[in-house]
Amino acid sequence: MAALDTLKILCVSWQSIRTCYDLTHDLPGWDCLLSGVDLSCPEDAAYTILINLLTEAMELTDRFSPWYKAPAEVFGLYQPLKNLSTPCYKWELTPNALARWRPTLDMLARAIATDPELADIQATVEATDWLKDAFVSATCACKPNPPVVMIPPHILLESILFCDVCGQPLHRLEQSET
Ligand SMILES: [Zn+2]
Repeated sequence: MAALDTLKILCVSWQSIRTCYDLTHDLPGWDCLLSGVDLSCPEDAAYTILINLLTEAMELTDRFSPWYKAPAEVFGLYQPLKNLSTPCYKWELTPNALARWRPTLDMLARAIATDPELADIQATVEATDWLKDAFVSATCACKPNPPVVMIPPHILLESILFCDVCGQPLHRLEQSET
C-alpha cells in the first residue's frame, strides 16, 4: 500500500480534526491532500497538507453543524494581507494552530522526507480516478474496540486486507457501527 507511514499520520490527524469539528467524513483523497504541495521541501509540504486538511474540514461543515460559518481562525487558519494591491488569498496557520499541530507537522515532514511514493502519487493523481476518492473507513472483528483504519477504496475492492490481531478481513465500516 502506497505511502503507509504518511497515511497513518494523516489518518490520525484527520481523526482529531473531525472529532474537533463534529465531522463524520472520511479522509479526503490524495488530490485534495497533495494540492499545491511542494514535496521537495518536506517541512513546507507538511504545512501545506495540514492546511489542505483544515480548509477541507472548514468546507465540509454543513448548516446543521455548530461550526457552520465559524470564522477561519476557529479552524486555525487565516489569510495574511501581504500586499494590498495584489491580495493574496493563500491560507496560513495561526500561531495557535502552529503550536497545536507542531508534533504532527514534524512527524509528517519526517514521513514525507522518506516517502518516494508520494511524488509518484502526486504525478499521477490527475489521471487516476481512485487517487481522487476519499479514503474509506474500514474495521475488523477485534473485540471490544475494533480499530478503525482509513484505506484507499480500491484496496477494499481489489484485495482483502487482514487484521494482524484478530486475523479477520477488514470490511467497510457502516455508519451504524460508529
Ligand atoms: Zn482485528
